[in-house]
Amino acid sequence: MRESWHERFAESPDVLKSESRPQTVVPVLDLEIGGDEFITMAGPCSVETEFQLMATANHVRRAGARILRGGAFKPRSSPYSFQGLGFEGLKLLAAAREETGLAIVTEVMTEDDVPLVADYADILQIGSRSMENYSLLEAAARSGRPILLKRGMMATIADLLRSAQVVLGNGNPNVILCERGIRTFETAMRNTFDAAGIALLKQITHLPVIADPSHASGHRELVPALARIGIAAGADGLLVEVHPDPDKAWSDGEQSLDFDGFTAMMAALEPWIALRGSLLHEGKLEQRENAGIRLAEAVA
Ligand code: PEP
Ligand code: MN
Repeated sequence: MRESWHERFAESPDVLKSESRPQTVVPVLDLEIGGDEFITMAGPCSVETEFQLMATANHVRRAGARILRGGAFKPRSSPYSFQGLGFEGLKLLAAAREETGLAIVTEVMTEDDVPLVADYADILQIGSRSMENYSLLEAAARSGRPILLKRGMMATIADLLRSAQVVLGNGNPNVILCERGIRTFETAMRNTFDAAGIALLKQITHLPVIADPSHASGHRELVPALARIGIAAGADGLLVEVHPDPDKAWSDGEQSLDFDGFTAMMAALEPWIALRGSLLHEGKLEQRENAGIRLAEAVA
């Protein structure tokens, strides 16, 4: 890693890649995030009903998702929009894990809710609107659960890394970064997907990085293309919104894929994921060879 990046992100030293810490692998149930396997997290924006969640969980599992996402506590731009089922939603998520074996990621919005959400979720999501809430980050970190940290919509890479540093600094090494689009002058899409940000994060940090093409685009037609771009940029996984009937979704229907759309996208992503796997393997071989050369030089 170039020295200048070290200087630039000096406020978050623990998140930076180094020889002793080249890559963090976050264990979640029987999975590893940041390892060889590309991990797709999928499910509805909001948990709405038992039928909606179970149908979606079963479908995304069959289509290749490894983690179920669903919001029980929802941070909404409008205070008059649906705010989530709360505790009922957590119980439904736990039932879906029981039925499908999928791990659960769900958002926690307040410090007070951390113990409850941590009881039910395998990964705690910190949403964009909360990324800089340091007291929430500290409480979430101390729960011991892995943290999915979404980049704030107005946050720079340095801001994101500072928030990750807060989690690491509170004794929790299991942070997964998520690029979900940022606000720019462009309004055709909900946000602007920062693919270069993913590439940079993969180069400078040891933390796993996942791409959220749903919130980044705001339009379901664009989700498969942004998913491909995310993989090509080096992401370790995806976070995708899926709903049985997106036009009737209680939140984020515009950007949610229906079941057929999700199946088609997952099938179309296969060659891209395979290419990522072989590049990763080559990269590892290269690293090993370089390490071998360095070792030989040191011995000589
Ligand atoms: C979500 O994942 O549904 C969500 C609210 O995301 P963000 O915090 O990125 O807006
Ligand atoms: Mn959403």
